[in-house]
Amino acid sequence: MDEGEHTPQAGESENSGGEIENSSTTDEDLDPSTEEPDGSAERGDSPTEGSNGSRRSHSDTDIAADIDVDADVPGDSDVDVGSGGRDRSSPDVDFDGVVLDDGDDNQGLFDDLLSGEPIFENKEVLRPSYTPHELPHRNDQINRMATILVSALRGETPSNILIYGKTGTGKTASAKFVSQELESTSQKYDVPCEVEYINCEVTDTQYRVLAQLANTFIEKNQRVIADRLETHRELRSEAADDPPVLAGTEFATLDALDARIDELEADADEMEEVPMTGWPTDRVYSTFFEAVDYHERVVVIMLDEIDKLVEKSGDDTLYNLSRMNSELDRSRISIMGISNDLKFTDFLDPRVKSSLGEEEIVFPPYDANQLRDILQHRADIAFKEEALTDDVIPLCAAFAAQEHGDARRALDLLRTAGELAERSQAEIVAEKHVRQAQDKIELDRVVEVVRTLPTQSKIVLFAVILLEKNGVHNINTGEVFNIYKRLCEEIDADVLTQRRVTDLISELDMLGIVNAVVVSKGRYGRTKEMGLSVPVEETEAVLLSDSRLGDIENAQPFVQARFDN
Ligand code: ADP
Ligand code: MG
Repeated sequence: MDEGEHTPQAGESENSGGEIENSSTTDEDLDPSTEEPDGSAERGDSPTEGSNGSRRSHSDTDIAADIDVDADVPGDSDVDVGSGGRDRSSPDVDFDGVVLDDGDDNQGLFDDLLSGEPIFENKEVLRPSYTPHELPHRNDQINRMATILVSALRGETPSNILIYGKTGTGKTASAKFVSQELESTSQKYDVPCEVEYINCEVTDTQYRVLAQLANTFIEKNQRVIADRLETHRELRSEAADDPPVLAGTEFATLDALDARIDELEADADEMEEVPMTGWPTDRVYSTFFEAVDYHERVVVIMLDEIDKLVEKSGDDTLYNLSRMNSELDRSRISIMGISNDLKFTDFLDPRVKSSLGEEEIVFPPYDANQLRDILQHRADIAFKEEALTDDVIPLCAAFAAQEHGDARRALDLLRTAGELAERSQAEIVAEKHVRQAQDKIELDRVVEVVRTLPTQSKIVLFAVILLEKNGVHNINTGEVFNIYKRLCEEIDADVLTQRRVTDLISELDMLGIVNAVVVSKGRYGRTKEMGLSVPVEETEAVLLSDSRLGDIENAQPFVQARFDN
């Protein structure tokens, strides 16, 4: 990544460059609360070109402005929004009118942004939450799922299915598509078949999985009971006036009908929701068991991100679910597990492994051509006609193909490129917006990773940054450790051993934040030499936004000390 291009400093200076163009910008203007009419007259003076000029400058600085905000650095971006917004509004808003007209009491902050030709027709289509109706290049996988699951519509138990593939290969989208089809077909033919989707990244313990299933089925059962009660009660009141109406029903006598009504009411009372914590697991399990077995049905339980569940809580859940069928009387369940980790079955009990993996379906990564098709389908709905130059989709596809064929990344890129174009008031999304989007996404990832590092790792990383900023190349572990120690003393943090610091460096290496290689120093042993793999300025800003590290006011002396040592 080009480090210089998107540093906050560069952004700030460009920002102020944009404002200087507007000679009318005064201190008062920077204060969003100022509403003096004469101030607005001044704004009214600023010519349209001035307003456009500031727009143009925004296009290149929005990325930097975002970083300011994310990193919580008290930046100029706030000021920028305030003044920039007003500048933009000035040509369109009649401020004399504003004072008198109660109905139009905004200052036009959004008017200008709204008035431009929008690039998007329907941006939601590019978001991960959208389930597409068409999934190009997944026909084989979808057909295989359907071939296995069709048994459910015949009242038989489908084989369990295990789906594998890296992130962004369309597993969740395909599985959801198939389950929607399955449920709608089951309604069409009136066969009791239900699909339960659970995301195990969110619901990540056996207790929670079973509780969620139990409560879902309890709720469904309550609805079934309520329906039946309503019909039975109607029948009851008709039969009270005219007993022969019972003739055509399953109830021989009024007493039988009453007994049935009592029974249903008792069932409804008995069903107790599982609390989010607190019950013994076997009680949760038996509650789920009884709820699902309350009436005849085939249930497909989709466990998405199943590898996360196993990683966090072992394979008990899968073991318990996979042996349920032998004990259920009325219902049948089938499990569809979805995993991002190709090797996760290695950790499973062999019985679970063979039961869960009755059928396996692999989702290979998409290549660049396939990603193009996927993007083209979505872009047709998401963007206005002619909103993209010809090279936009191929470039998004190419970037994402490098990223292990990740369709999510491809869509993110396309959406972000569109947003950047829109913000810079461009008429059309072009190649440069895709490149900016690629940088922004990569930077967002880095910022997020760095922001969530444990404090000790942040201190280690800060030491590396200080060295790098002082022009040290091939930084070695000892150098990092020395600076690290001094930083710890400065902020009163525990000092870890050099051994532990070396481990933390390895972790930073694995996260792609530093790039470390082991070098042999002959008979002096081995050491690690490293450099920073992420942009210095942004990373430093994120580190300093941590309240503890923010206390380090002037780190220069530490680095100087290194050279004195
Ligand atoms: P996974 O579950 O394998 O990580 P997803 O199913 O969540 O991947 O797909 C990631 C994103 O890419 C989603 O927005 C999805 O709609 C989209 N996507 C994946 N494959 C296709 C495809 N073949 N056609 C259209 N969109 C797709
Ligand atoms: Mg998924």
